[in-house]
Amino acid sequence: MKKIQIQGTNKTYTIGKIVCVGKNYLEHAKELGDAVSEKPVIFMKPASSIIFSGEKIIYPEFTKSLHYETELVLLVGKTGKNISKSNALDYIDGYTVGLDMTLRDIQSGLKKNGHPWEISKCFDTSTVLAHFIPKGKITNANNLSIKLWVNEELRQNDNTSNMIYNVESIVEYLSGYFTLEKGDIIFTGTPAGVGEVKKGDKLKAEIEGLSTLVTEIS
Ligand code: MG
Repeated sequence: MKKIQIQGTNKTYTIGKIVCVGKNYLEHAKELGDAVSEKPVIFMKPASSIIFSGEKIIYPEFTKSLHYETELVLLVGKTGKNISKSNALDYIDGYTVGLDMTLRDIQSGLKKNGHPWEISKCFDTSTVLAHFIPKGKITNANNLSIKLWVNEELRQNDNTSNMIYNVESIVEYLSGYFTLEKGDIIFTGTPAGVGEVKKGDKLKAEIEGLSTLVTEIS
């Protein structure tokens, strides 16, 4: 069981499920050549895939295309079901920046056959998290710049205001289908600019007002 703490507090959380929204930025859906869905695309990752800023991503030997996806990440602070947009933020305790590492070659093959994506998304070290910041430090999570550098070259540069489904809509949508529990983590989707990394690459991800994430591919 992995535990996390919100920076500057003594609140601890046992990590539950990691729920992810796919294709939540129009330009990213386009770059993948995918149609924009009428409803959010949802998938999950296991807690065993998590590492933290400063730790290394291990390049799996069963892929030739390891991609980064930089995302705003929410920490669920209390259990709820059928949460309305207007109450959604009551269920969120913290924010951070995360990487949803993806094996794009494997994912494309699975998609083509209509199969689930897990093999491309759940491998060890595929989920990277920076420190969580208390919710109260962020005035509006739906308007934050989001950036990723690979070896100091800027590769992703967008704003969470371009999310198709904002934080409140995501919480409402997910909790309409299953219970969100304290310690669950929600990845809100990546902007355009995703791309491949190779062994030795150094990644830095930042979201305005949040803790910086650094990692390396090994
Ligand atoms: Mg993603």
